[in-house]
Amino acid sequence: MQRIINIERFYIAPCAKIVDNILSIGDEQNGTTAVKADVTDWNIEEYTLESQLNVLYPKHTIEEIWGCTYRQGDFAETHCHRGFDKSFVWFVDTCTHCSPLIFPDPEHPWMPPLASIRPSRGNLIVFNSNDIHYVPPHTCKHHRMVLSGNMSLNKEVQ
Ligand SMILES: [Zn+2]
Repeated sequence: MQRIINIERFYIAPCAKIVDNILSIGDEQNGTTAVKADVTDWNIEEYTLESQLNVLYPKHTIEEIWGCTYRQGDFAETHCHRGFDKSFVWFVDTCTHCSPLIFPDPEHPWMPPLASIRPSRGNLIVFNSNDIHYVPPHTCKHHRMVLSGNMSLNKEVQ
């Protein structure tokens, strides 16, 4: 029997300035993370996303936000965000053919993944930080741009 993982989906309209901002920062991680694409540092400021998350998750604190620019062939190795409670991905510039975000089933690797999220511009996906996931190599000619981040549960509600 496969587990059911909790994935929440919201929509926040991204503005063009976010994409320009991520592109102008470029890569600050030199391929040292699981994401083999251009990755910014961990503290991008994005007011629209932060204010919406604060409303949606009042018991959580946003600890980190970073931007990723996947070019053709870029991908993310299987990883999770241990040490946090909730993690998120906001698709700020993607098309329907862009590589999905896949949550494999580590207990039953021969079975279909627990979830496969098709990117859709403006969709915000929130998942448990311990759930492992990856992004297969990006095949589109354009950039696949996302903002990702981690939240922790506030002490008083733990
Ligand atoms: Zn695409």
